[in-house]
This record gives sequence, structure tokens and C-alpha cells, in this order.
Amino acid sequence: MNSQPPRPPYAPPPPPPRATGREGLCPHCAHVRVLTSAKGSTFYLCERSKHDPRFVRYPPQPRMECAGFER
Ligand code: SF4
Repeated sequence: MNSQPPRPPYAPPPPPPRATGREGLCPHCAHVRVLTSAKGSTFYLCERSKHDPRFVRYPPQPRMECAGFER
């Protein structure tokens, strides 16, 4: 007789977050460091890139989907 509890139904992983605005996800991400050059340009440094090769140091903008995004 099977004494194990029933397994929960399979749930697929949630889809990666998607941005709805034109500026994308990075400006709103907990893992970004915003850098401003002497000429006033803004760059988004992804801190996840230090430990995870799936992420690039300066992701092309705007990034509309990202599995690493967190608020
Ligand atoms: S984890 Fe994704 S959304 Fe967050 S800063 Fe890096 S590239 Fe941008």
C-alpha cells in the first residue's frame, strides 16, 4: 500500500517578467547599479553578471524580459 502523500499537480514555472513601459526592466530591478557618465549618459550595470554568466555586465537597453529581474 502507498503511504506517501499525493504529489501536487505539476505547475509550469512562471514566465519571465515582462516590461510594459518603454524603459524596460533594468531601471526597476533590485540588481542594477545605475551609472552616469561625465557627459550625462546613463548606464545600467547588472550586478548579477558578477556571479552568473547568463547575465552581461551592461545589458542592451531596453531589456523587456529577464529571468533575473527582482523588485
Ligand atoms: S537582472 Fe535582468 S533586469 Fe535586473 S539588472 Fe540584470 S539584466 Fe537588468
